[in-house]
Amino acid sequence: MRVCTTAADLQLPWGSPIGFVPTMGALHEGHLSLVRTAKEQTGYCVVSIFVNPTQFGPNEDFHKYPRPLEADLAQAESAGADVVYVPEVSEIYGPVTAWVRVEGITDAWEGEWRPGHFEGVTTVVAKLFNIVRPTDAFFGTKDLQQCAVISAMIDALKFPIRFHREPTLREADGLAMSSRNRYLSPQDRETARLLPLTQRAILDQIAKGEPVDQATQEGISRLAAAGFDVQYLAYVEPTNLTSLSSYSETGRTIVAAKLGTTRLIDNLGHSESF
Ligand code: AMP
Repeated sequence: MRVCTTAADLQLPWGSPIGFVPTMGALHEGHLSLVRTAKEQTGYCVVSIFVNPTQFGPNEDFHKYPRPLEADLAQAESAGADVVYVPEVSEIYGPVTAWVRVEGITDAWEGEWRPGHFEGVTTVVAKLFNIVRPTDAFFGTKDLQQCAVISAMIDALKFPIRFHREPTLREADGLAMSSRNRYLSPQDRETARLLPLTQRAILDQIAKGEPVDQATQEGISRLAAAGFDVQYLAYVEPTNLTSLSSYSETGRTIVAAKLGTTRLIDNLGHSESF
C-alpha cells in the first residue's frame, strides 16, 4: 500500500477501474467495509483521509476531530487499500476559492442544522474526484442525505463516476459506527442504543398503520425523556429526503440528536435488522 500526500505522487492506473472511498479518518469497521467492497468490485481501492475544514461549522468539532493516522494506515492496508491519499489543507484549498453547491436537496435536515455543511462536502468531494479520477465511488448509507447530495452532484455535473451506496455497519447493540462515538461518556454510550431501537419501533408502528406523525412524535418524546436533544426525527423517501405521510416499502427514519455535546445521526429502513 502506498501513502501519498500530494496529487502529483498519486500516479494511479487511470484507464482501469479505480474504486474510491473518501473519509475523514479515525477509521472503523464501517469505513473498512467500504474499502473491502471497493476493492472487491473494482480491483483497485484508493482511500482519502482528509478532515475537511469547510464542512465544519464555527462551533463544531474540527479541531478536536480524532486524527489517529498511524492506526488508520494500518487498518486501511489490512482492508485491502492500494493507495491512501492524505493531503494537507493547503493542497486542497489553494489561493483561489471556488465552491460546488447542490440546490434543493441540501436545504432540509442536515442542511438546516449545519448551514454550509453540504457546500463544504460537495466542494471537497468534487476536488477529490478530479484529483483521484475514480471510476467508482463508495459512500455509506449512514450519511443518507450526503449520499443523496453526492449522487445528485455526480448527475448534475456529469462526473463519469458510478455511485455506490453501501449499508451501515453497527455495533452489537445497534448503534451505528461513527468516528464521533468515541466522544460519548460511558453513560451516554449506554443511552445511545436507544437511537436505533427507537427508529426500529417507529418503523414497526408505521408498518402497522399508525399515523407517521404520531409514531415520530412518540419517538421524539422517548428520546427526549432519555436525555437526547432531538434536532430532527422524520420518515422520508431515501433518494430525495422528502417527508412521507404513510408507509412506503423504501421509507426510512432519519434522526439527528445530541447526547451531551456529541451529535449523532442515523437512519434506518424497514428491512434492516440489527
Ligand atoms: P466520514 O469519515 O465520517 O466522512 O465517513 C466516510 C465514509 O464512511 C462516508 O461515506 C460515510 O457514510 C461512511 N460511513 C461512516 N460510518 C459508517 C458506518 N457505520 N457504516 C458504513 N459506512 C459508514
